[in-house]
Amino acid sequence: MPLKPPSEMDSKRVEKSDEEWQRALTPEQYRILRAHGTERAGTSSLNAEHRAGMFRCAACGQPLFQSDTKFDSGTGWPSFYQPLEGAIGTSNDGAHNMQRTEVHCSRCRGHLGHVFPDGPKPSGERYCMNGAALDFAPASGGSNAGKKE
Ligand SMILES: [Zn+2]
Repeated sequence: MPLKPPSEMDSKRVEKSDEEWQRALTPEQYRILRAHGTERAGTSSLNAEHRAGMFRCAACGQPLFQSDTKFDSGTGWPSFYQPLEGAIGTSNDGAHNMQRTEVHCSRCRGHLGHVFPDGPKPSGERYCMNGAALDFAPASGGSNAGKKE
């Protein structure tokens, strides 16, 4: 099978200009998702989110983590041991002279956090996410999908 040209392969990508993202996101979300920021530890309400449901990208709504892969890492950031297949991408982050693996949404490329190799079984990975980069949709329904105020 011939390889598809990149434009077709990326057709489900969400591309917005900087200005459009700034309008669509809160300042804190923009700082994290589009400018690789990190929220202060312990500030996200999602740290205490233990209901069943789906954690989605706050920028484009793509489902990223299921609630049953969330665990309490004690770091003050929402942590997961496994993303949904194909939901995230990673890149090498040499910022601050630390070798870390940066994690972003595969759909809109929004920065989500980092992944570390010290997570629990079965994956052994710890996806350390910024809560502001995530939206939680409880499984019981009643969520306003994609709604931003
Ligand atoms: Zn996204």
